[in-house]
Amino acid sequence: MPKFTGLTLKLTLAFVAVAVAGIVIVGLLVKRATAAQFSSYLEQIARMRGMSRMWGKGGMGWLGGAEQNFLQRIDESLWLAGAIAVAAAVLLSLLLSRQIVAPLRRLTLAAERIARGDFSHRVSISSRDELGELAQAFNAMAKTLAENEEVRRNLVADTSHELRTPLAVLQGKIEAMLDGVIMPTPDNLASLHGEVLLLSRLVADLHTLTLAEAGRLKLNLVPTNLEEVARRVVDSFRLPAEEKGIVLSLHIPPDLPRALVDAERFSQILSNLLSNALRYTQERGTIKVEVGESAGGKDQRSLLLSVSDTGIGTEDLPHIFDRFYRADPSRTRATGGSGIGLAIVKELVGAHGGRVWVESKQGQGSTFYFTLPLAK
Ligand code: ADP
Repeated sequence: MPKFTGLTLKLTLAFVAVAVAGIVIVGLLVKRATAAQFSSYLEQIARMRGMSRMWGKGGMGWLGGAEQNFLQRIDESLWLAGAIAVAAAVLLSLLLSRQIVAPLRRLTLAAERIARGDFSHRVSISSRDELGELAQAFNAMAKTLAENEEVRRNLVADTSHELRTPLAVLQGKIEAMLDGVIMPTPDNLASLHGEVLLLSRLVADLHTLTLAEAGRLKLNLVPTNLEEVARRVVDSFRLPAEEKGIVLSLHIPPDLPRALVDAERFSQILSNLLSNALRYTQERGTIKVEVGESAGGKDQRSLLLSVSDTGIGTEDLPHIFDRFYRADPSRTRATGGSGIGLAIVKELVGAHGGRVWVESKQGQGSTFYFTLPLAK
């Protein structure tokens, strides 16, 4: 039996009100109609039987009594019908409120569980009405919350894992200096400084990635000639490339249309791809950066950029853009980066409205492609 909650009470009152109003209206109409009809019926009978004299003498009393009787019967029937209608209204409203209130209660309980942090809870309401739609929307919301929570948990776990190693190295070295085991020579201090720089870089990268993933990264989008920016970034890699005997080249066609980009973020995308190419290409390899117009449809014209190398390549393509993913987990941050360079590339390209993908073969090299929108 459903409890008389607010909604049940309101539904019952509404049903009873409708039933009472209906019965009152029907009663009034019936009484009016039957009284008039009954009088004219009696008159006709009297006239037909030639007893019109009796009217004058009041001899129609029995007929008046019959009318009274008849109307009283109708009154009783109306009262009975009213009582039945009210009882039916109460019963129906209880049944109906069961249909409405029970799912709402389930939704409320589910919302309370989610508020307590249990994102796995779902409501099972299969009706195809608005309540069913509400339940579906609720479940979709709970699913998204669960996914976000998992992302958040992984991020915290991965971040603390990434920070632990360089912090442990720093702690060990500083303690050794304090104990007099190693001397605070310029070389040893420079090594500490290097660790601190790596840490700051990691924290800055994580900040960028978190902002981008939350859609809160502010881009300063302006029509930009990418030639100048790309040249500057590529030039900054010339020295380390030369040291590894790697040939680094940049190919840009004349009359390159301008792209709608944030120049600083574009530099970051290209730098991340180039530092990977440099890291994963053996000595005397080649790295090529190409910029051109993509051959998409008329409305999808955009710039297509690529960074190809003749390095070690990789077969782990599905995960390569995942945060903290490294093909070789044994590599440390010092030897192989943080594993978030490509995640940042993906987010930054996405924030510009572009797309990024990779073609790679183990032992034969990789080519990373990305598109950027053209300025109108
Ligand atoms: P990391 O800092 O470890 O390089 P990234 O997110 O930049 O992190 O790259 C993720 C993984 O993708 C790398 O660990 C590496 O295995 C692979 N990868 C990235 N770029 C290349 C490349 N040019 N050649 C081969 N493998 C690459």
